[in-house]
Amino acid sequence: MGCNLCESKKTLNGVMFIGRNIFVMECKSCHVPIAVSIDHKKEFTAEEKSFIHEVFYKHLRLQGVIDWKTRDIKDHVHAHLR
Ligand SMILES: [Zn+2]
Ligand SMILES: [Zn+2]
Repeated sequence: MGCNLCESKKTLNGVMFIGRNIFVMECKSCHVPIAVSIDHKKEFTAEEKSFIHEVFYKHLRLQGVIDWKTRDIKDHVHAHLR
């Protein structure tokens, strides 16, 4: 309840990709793509991390460096592409 991210994943507003338990959207504070866990959890598994690589670079054909530091969102682990 009251989680902004859970609200935006319902409307899929601005979501660029959704697959497995990850979705990619534009970060509203940084204005770069951000991969976010659909569920409330604190860390990505190694498998999820390589999936995020694939999504950013192969599926969405984006360029940049993945920033694994989580800062904007507390309940959903996420990675920015900067
Ligand atoms: Zn949430
Ligand atoms: Zn951000």
